Amino acid sequence: MSDQNLVELQGIHKAFGDNVVLAGVDLSVARGEVIVIAGPSGSGKSTMLRCVNGLETADRGEITFDGRPVKPGKGLSALRAEIGFVFQQFHLFPHMSVLDNIVLAPVKVKGIARDAARTRGQELLERVGIAEKAHQFPAELSGGQQQRVAIARALAMDPKLMLFDEPTSALDPEMIREVLDVMRDLAREGMTMLVVTHEMGFAREVCDRLVFIDGGLIVEEGPPAEFFANAQSERAREFVDKII
Ligand code: ADP
Ligand code: MG
Repeated sequence: MSDQNLVELQGIHKAFGDNVVLAGVDLSVARGEVIVIAGPSGSGKSTMLRCVNGLETADRGEITFDGRPVKPGKGLSALRAEIGFVFQQFHLFPHMSVLDNIVLAPVKVKGIARDAARTRGQELLERVGIAEKAHQFPAELSGGQQQRVAIARALAMDPKLMLFDEPTSALDPEMIREVLDVMRDLAREGMTMLVVTHEMGFAREVCDRLVFIDGGLIVEEGPPAEFFANAQSERAREFVDKII
């Protein structure tokens, strides 16, 4: 069914010991939708993203991705291969060139021929604006360039969904823009994206829906303009006032 939502979270609960992190999260993500997830530190944003691709398992509730349940066991690694994940710390393989970083998963996981993967990798590097860095090592690149490699590496698997967990939080201010620009282009090309970020300019300009999470619950959601103009809950208002 092409019109079904790409991702569905229903009644997601997750605790670490006594620490209840997600207390009943419901969220539907349409194909092509770009959602920014905002909220205070420790509110469960990363845990929620990690549940979506099965890096964490919810204690209760159900998640489906493209019509299939996200749960431990057979099928999870195939499903995860369809979901790109970009982290705050870029997690590139330091001993491999930029291009080899990008080629690795398509060759190993998807069985794509190395030459074809390299050609595609080079195209992706061009798309994120660093074609000339293909044969350098991650440590030779700036943070912004490394994060663009991480995005290209995720795209090399042709994901149906991209998860971003504070992708610019570790960057020097002058490098934030170049990464957000790549993300904005990706959004405009129709990628479905869940983005945890404090970059409210990006949220305002790019996302379809802003989801504010606090105390393990989605306390507010809506189009960004609406959220900024008249967030209803006190916690969201405080957040907006602090950030803008
Ligand atoms: P956010 O991304 O919104 O800052 P997180 O999802 O990272 O929040 O964390 C929410 C809470 O869960 C925090 O109190 C954090 O310490 C706790 N937590 C996250 N991951 C783990 C884990 N693997 N083990 C124990 N506690 C965790
Ligand atoms: Mg986090």
